[in-house]
Amino acid sequence: MASTSFWQATAGDWRPPAERPSPNRVFDCLIVGSGMVGASVAYALAQEKPAWKLAVADRRQVGGGATGRNAGFLLAGTAEHYAVSVAERGRATAREVFAVTVASHRRIRDFLARHPAASCDYWPCGSLTLAGTPDEAETLAQSAALLREDGFDVTFIPHDPLGRGFRAAIRNAHDAGVHPVKLIRALLAASGAAVFEHWPITGVEAAGNALLARSARGELRAERILLALNGEAGGFDGFFADKVFPVRGQILVTAPYARRLLSEVVYANQGYEYFRQLPDRRFLFGGGRRAFAKTEIGADETPTAAVQGFLEAFRDRHFPELADLPIERRWAGTMGFTRDGLPLMGRLPGRAPAWFSIACHGHGLGFGLEAGRLAARMVITGNPPPLFDARRLDATATVSGELPG
Ligand SMILES: Cc1cc2nc3c(=O)[nH]c(=O)nc-3n(C[C@H](O)[C@H](O)[C@H](O)COP(=O)(O)OP(=O)(O)OC[C@H]3O[C@@H](n4cnc5c(N)ncnc54)[C@H](O)[C@@H]3O)c2cc1C
Repeated sequence: MASTSFWQATAGDWRPPAERPSPNRVFDCLIVGSGMVGASVAYALAQEKPAWKLAVADRRQVGGGATGRNAGFLLAGTAEHYAVSVAERGRATAREVFAVTVASHRRIRDFLARHPAASCDYWPCGSLTLAGTPDEAETLAQSAALLREDGFDVTFIPHDPLGRGFRAAIRNAHDAGVHPVKLIRALLAASGAAVFEHWPITGVEAAGNALLARSARGELRAERILLALNGEAGGFDGFFADKVFPVRGQILVTAPYARRLLSEVVYANQGYEYFRQLPDRRFLFGGGRRAFAKTEIGADETPTAAVQGFLEAFRDRHFPELADLPIERRWAGTMGFTRDGLPLMGRLPGRAPAWFSIACHGHGLGFGLEAGRLAARMVITGNPPPLFDARRLDATATVSGELPG
C-alpha cells in the first residue's frame, strides 16, 4: 500500500499546465517520468531549446515517485565516502562525479535566484557527514583530505560536533535542504512543458518520422522521447532489468520539537541513516535498511514495522529527548540503484530509439540540475555524456557499494 510523504502532504494545491493530446500534435520532446530527473531535463531543454514544445507524462501525480518521498537533502557527492569513490572509480572519475553534484547545487541556487517566488523551502544550512565507527572516522579524514586536494571546500572535524555519540564529521557548508515536491513543480512550471499526470505510458514505438508513447489515456507523439522512470525502469523495458535495481527507502517525521537542536542536514553511518530538523522544527529520520537488506528490495512503498522500529531506536539512542515526541508520518519510496552507483544515460536499443536518464542510486536531488543538463544535451546532440553513458556497464564489472539480492 502506497504511503503519503510529508512533502506530498504539504506541497499545497497545484494545477500543472496540461493540454489535450491530439493525433496531430507532435511534441519536440516527451519526457516520461516527472521526478527530479524528468523535471531537470525539461527545465534544461527549455533553456537550450526555447522554441521546442515539451511534454511530461507521469503515471502518478507530479512528485508521486522517489522525488516526492525522499529526505530533501541537496548533498554533494555520491552514496559512498569520497575515499571509497576514489578507490573504486579512480581519482579523475571520482572528481568529475563530485563536480557534477557541486555544479548542480550552483544551478539550483541560480534557478531559485531567477525564480524568487519559487522558494521551495530551500535552506542553505550545510551538511554534516558523521562517522559511526573509528574506521569510518579514518575514511572521513582521508575523504576530506582528498576532496580538499581536488579543490572541493569541506572541513574535517575530528570529533562529533553534535555531541551525539559519533566519532568524526565532514562539514560541507555548501549543501542544503529543500522541499523536493515544490522544487520539481517549480522546474516544470518554468519549463513550460505540458504535464500529463496519471498518464501511464505502456510502450514506445516508432510511428513514421516520430515516436509514439502508448497509454490507455491516449497516445502522445514526439520527435524525441526521454525515459526518466527511475526504479520502475525494469518493468517498463527488459533492457533495464539487469541494470536498474529498485530498493526501498523509509522515513519518519515527528511533530515539531520545542527548540531547534540541529541546523545542518545530517548523513550518518555511511549514509545508511540520515536526519534533519525541518524549518518548522519537526525531525525527519530516514534510512535503517542495512540490517534488512533482504526485505528492502522492490518497488513497494509501504513502510515496515522492522525498519520504522530501527529508526525509532536510532532516534532514541542519539536524541533521547525526542523519545516522547509523536511521530506524525511514516512513508517509503523506491530508489533506483545501479551496479556502479552512477546514473545511466543512453538510448534504448531496438525499434523505438528513446533516450533514457535513469537511476541516481539514492542521490537524485544531488545529481539534480547538472545531470539534467547533461541528459538534455544528449537528447539534443545524440551523444550520451561519457561519465554516465550506460554502455560503460558492457565493459566493466566494477561494483560499488551493495546491490540488492
Ligand atoms: C526514502 C528516500 C530518501 C531519499 N533521500 C534523498 C535525499 O535526501 N537526497 C537525494 O539526493 N536523493 C534522495 N533519495 C533519492 C532520490 O529521491 C532519487 O534519486 C530521485 O528522486 C530520482 O528522481 P527520478 O526523477 O529519477 O525518479 P522519481 O522521482 O521516482 O520519478 C520517476 C517517475 O516516473 C514515473 N513513472 C514510472 N513508470 C512510468 C510509466 N510507465 N509511465 C509514466 N510514468 C512513469 C513515476 O510515477 C515517477 O513519478 C531518496 C530516495 C528515497 C526513496
